[in-house]
Order: sequence, then C-alpha cells, then structure tokens
Amino acid sequence: MSAKHYSLKPTARALTPTGGFLKGFAFSLNPYIGCAFGDGGGCPYCYVRMLPIARVESGSWGTWVIAKSNLAERLEVELAALEKKGRLAETTIFMSSATDPYQGIERRLGLTRAALEVFERHPIRRILIQTRSPLIEHDIEIIRALGNRAIVSLTLETDDDNVRRANGARSKALGMRELYAKHGYEEWFRPGAERDLIDAMRSRLGDERVLISRAGFSAV
Ligand code: SF4
Repeated sequence: MSAKHYSLKPTARALTPTGGFLKGFAFSLNPYIGCAFGDGGGCPYCYVRMLPIARVESGSWGTWVIAKSNLAERLEVELAALEKKGRLAETTIFMSSATDPYQGIERRLGLTRAALEVFERHPIRRILIQTRSPLIEHDIEIIRALGNRAIVSLTLETDDDNVRRANGARSKALGMRELYAKHGYEEWFRPGAERDLIDAMRSRLGDERVLISRAGFSAV
C-alpha cells in the first residue's frame, strides 16, 4: 500500500461553477483536493488524474489529500449571498466532481458533514452526493433531513471480489458471496442481477426516487 500524505488548507471558494458533463448542475463542491482511494494510486478508471487539479501536490494521484479546512464557513457565506440574490431555490450542486467527499480522513475532520449541515440552514434545490465510500452512512440522518433536496449516488464497482482486488481499489470485501448464498444464487455473475437491486431500491424508496440513467448525472 502506498504511503498517503494529508494536509489542511483554507480555500478561497467553496462552490465552483460547472460545465462539461456536469452542466446539469450550477456548481460543484469538493471538500477535499486529491483522493486516497485505491492502493495503487487511485481507481484505475479515475478521470481526475488527467486534470490539472491532480498536479497541485507532488506525488502520484491517489497518494495525497488536501482537506479544505474552512469549507463550511465559506459555504455559509456563498449560500447566504445566493439567498440574498433570490437564487437559492434554483441552486443545484454536485458533490464531488474531483474527489470523493467521504475520504477516510472525513471520519476525523467531518468537512462533508459540516457542509451538509450548512444545507439544512440554506435549503437549495438539489445536492447530489457522489461517493464510493460506506462512510456516508454516518451522515444518513442529516441526508434524510434534507429530504428531496438530496440525491445520493453510490458507486458499486462490481459484485465480484476478484474484480475488486484486480482493480486495486481500497475497499472492504463486499460480502457478496454471503449475499448471493442468502438469495440462492449459485453463480457470481448472473445477468440481470442489477434488476433485483433496482427493484429492492424501488420497493424501499418508491419509483420516483430511484433514477436510472445512461446519459450521466442530472439534478432532475
Ligand atoms: S474515488 Fe473517485 S476521485 Fe478517488 S480515485 Fe476513485 S474515481 Fe477518482
């Protein structure tokens, strides 16, 4: 496993106007710069490593993280400014476009958590929280309190532990063997298995809250 380097730095801005594949959102919000997921230097498919932001620190992508120490304070100021202009109710935010908001160090720093608490005080139209980390469960009550204003998008790379290991991703064993056994599946890969997942989510959350898209993210 590569050594990781962590540092804290204040940020001048919390929200960044978007474009490109995120043009459906007004702003992106990145509590961290860099990413510590992936033992071999980030997830192999990560597009962020090709962006200029991946070179603000020396060391290869996946080995360092800069935490934006004053994120919640900056966000509070920027949302208050949007509120003053009457734009809060139309504001859509994607968190995060160039990092995962649930880095392991989030457990100690709580930057993402503090940002979510700011949204409780300044209700925007929508925030999409994109993560691959089960750490998001710690904030489930805050996310629940945001109601329809929050969308959680959770990356599930694979249902096969061999693929997970080959990807070099630093994630826990998925426990899929046990899950498959529980549901009586005999094979690791069962075409259409994702249907069960979608049906299970729809039965818990309702049809209108489970969004399936091949066209990318949308604030809806
Ligand atoms: S978790 Fe996201 S940002 Fe981090 S390396 Fe993987 S794809 Fe890139």
